[in-house]
Amino acid sequence: MANTCPICGGAVFRRPGPGQPPRYCTFECGIKAQRERDQRRRLVGRLVEQLAAEGDEVAVQLLARAGV
Ligand SMILES: [Zn+2]
Repeated sequence: MANTCPICGGAVFRRPGPGQPPRYCTFECGIKAQRERDQRRRLVGRLVEQLAAEGDEVAVQLLARAGV
């Protein structure tokens, strides 16, 4: 049985033996997924900073909690 790669939609085959089944079909897709996560995180950070600059209470509290 194969899962679907969330990056390219290709089949992800379980390797025989113990351990976590792979989430991505190739190493490259894993790298790409990690890069997209980082990009999203940076984007969220920028948006929160922007909201805080506009006086959004929740955004200000989020930044305070993150120690920024
Ligand atoms: Zn893939």
